[in-house]
Amino acid sequence: MRDKYRLTKVIFTIGPATADEETLEQLIKEGVDVCRFNMAHASHEWIKNCITKIRRASQRVGKQIALMMDVKGPEIRTGDLPGPLDLKKGDLMDFIVDDSVKAEADIPQVTVNYPKLIQDLKPGDDLLVDSGLIRLKVLEKTENRIRAEVETPGEMGNRRHVNLPGVHVDLPSLTNKDKKDVTFGIEQEFDFFALSFVREAGDIELLRRFLSQRHSKARIIAKIEDQTAIRNLEDIVIASDGLMVARGDLGIECPYEELPLIQKDAIRLCIQNFKPAIVATHMLESMISAPVPTRAEVSDVFNAVVQRADCMMLSGETTVGRYPLECVRVMNKVARRSEGIIKTKPADWIKLDTAAEKMLRSAAMLAQEIENSGIVVFTRGMRYPLLLSALRSSKTPIYAFTDEEALFRQLNIVWGITPFYFTYTQDREESIQNALHMLKVDKWVKSGDRLVVITNVLARSKVVESIQLRRIE
Ligand code: PEP
Repeated sequence: MRDKYRLTKVIFTIGPATADEETLEQLIKEGVDVCRFNMAHASHEWIKNCITKIRRASQRVGKQIALMMDVKGPEIRTGDLPGPLDLKKGDLMDFIVDDSVKAEADIPQVTVNYPKLIQDLKPGDDLLVDSGLIRLKVLEKTENRIRAEVETPGEMGNRRHVNLPGVHVDLPSLTNKDKKDVTFGIEQEFDFFALSFVREAGDIELLRRFLSQRHSKARIIAKIEDQTAIRNLEDIVIASDGLMVARGDLGIECPYEELPLIQKDAIRLCIQNFKPAIVATHMLESMISAPVPTRAEVSDVFNAVVQRADCMMLSGETTVGRYPLECVRVMNKVARRSEGIIKTKPADWIKLDTAAEKMLRSAAMLAQEIENSGIVVFTRGMRYPLLLSALRSSKTPIYAFTDEEALFRQLNIVWGITPFYFTYTQDREESIQNALHMLKVDKWVKSGDRLVVITNVLARSKVVESIQLRRIE
């Protein structure tokens, strides 16, 4: 029989450390579920090449993983400087948007690519440069410049990332680069598009229209990275197909003490709305250069598992890190150790309104009562697997069967779901038998096990939902 598998899924970000076919094959063998491409760094040519390698490696291992394109979204950056600036505490620095503005004597200045910078900032606001490493406080503004004082010193180089905590940044949610990237992603059959800096539900709807106009069935993950997103969280969850708690930027845009609470609430909101939740960034950061995690990192992974997130994500650990395989092994170990013993019952948080939803809960309860059981569900739209997963019943495996290839891969991000790609036959009974046979051949179940099967049956030519108890021959 299969070893105990992991219920919480793992997303890895591909980069120079993992882009060779052998490493990809090993990662897939270790059980990664999704490969993420970060469009802040990846070129189309490189991606195409990687996808070919991933598909070949998947074929050899016998496990298909999903592809996620992380769309860059609007980003504010500083411009070029004559040379690196060594900013000390108390130094003054000017920020301009029009590079024809002349610098004032002794005060260095830099352009910023956000036209409304001067309009949107006011004295007392924070301005963070280089992913939060350099912190400045706005002292004053004139018609054409923001003057700020350095609070946290550092060396400022060219084109550094800028964060404006608390400011509703008025930039298009889908830039021209994003549109080109998404169009390419559709051609390459990406399964997910993760949209950066989502601020409101409308941002998701824009990308949704873009995808549907191009007949893409890809799903949209909303990356929440700033305070505006937190204010609009529920609407964003409802509009999207899943959420990424992007703790890198979120930890800069929000006071860091808020971060654990935001993570916990976001996961819960996702479960309540039957949407997958991803915990991202710095999960095993020290393993970029060390073969073992810190104790704090082990606890961070444990927390994501306890909170019942659907996925844990690796970024720098697998793009440039020296120990990408070890990182996945750590996640496997910690998740497997913790998943079965957790007492939280998200089943109590969720509201199941319709009769069909209540039927699914009954199916899960029935499967829990039976030893070595599991649930078999057939799907073409992911709804039932999402509902079953939201019950977070750790003792009951959920085997989801679909004849849609994209959906088969997309199911990879859903907590506790093991997806299967198969062909439905006209005869419903034959389809069920085929599914059960696949489970037995693949060693997910053995003779004598009893499974709860959720399926339609024909009763005097009427289609009726049913829960059946099936014994494996
Ligand atoms: C983050 O900020 O945590 C994140 C995942 O986004 P990115 O890696 O694109 O900055």
